[in-house]
Amino acid sequence: MGEATADPLPSRACRERGPLSAARKSGRQKRPLKFARIPHPTMRQSCIEIVSHSRNRKGYLQLRPRTGPRRSHVGAHRLAYLSKYGPDSIPPGYEVDHICGNRGCVNRKHLRVLSCSEHKRVTNATRYSQREEAAHCHWLATDCTGTALAAVFGVSATTTRRWIREWKSDPDA
Ligand SMILES: [Zn+2]
Repeated sequence: MGEATADPLPSRACRERGPLSAARKSGRQKRPLKFARIPHPTMRQSCIEIVSHSRNRKGYLQLRPRTGPRRSHVGAHRLAYLSKYGPDSIPPGYEVDHICGNRGCVNRKHLRVLSCSEHKRVTNATRYSQREEAAHCHWLATDCTGTALAAVFGVSATTTRRWIREWKSDPDA
């Protein structure tokens, strides 16, 4: 998170809750978002990733929304879903799932809402099998490291390093 935005008014923001939002908004530096398309092996459309901002350790990209509770960062994929389907499109207790398995993807066609328990079940079921294919595509497109790949697809770096070894030894796999 080398370029993480430094909060310009950390202590004042804590004291003055409401009225500060307008001031904070005007004083905030907004870095423009840059997007990249990453081909996906099974989805018809490519993944769309934000490449101008860094992801957190779990592979998710967090953004600060213009509206809603201030100072709280929200997953970029969640914002993408809300902006497409409306502010009430994610019921309480539901999460936005990446059908493509790429946690950094903000393509709305790759997103759906699932209950938390269903989300866990699906995530675990697709953990290694379908993800390896998607990870392979991502790796070919970005030439990223095993650690970065692990964060994107939510698997261990030991796993992604093994995958990369296998892909390198058998490029046609
Ligand atoms: Zn995707």
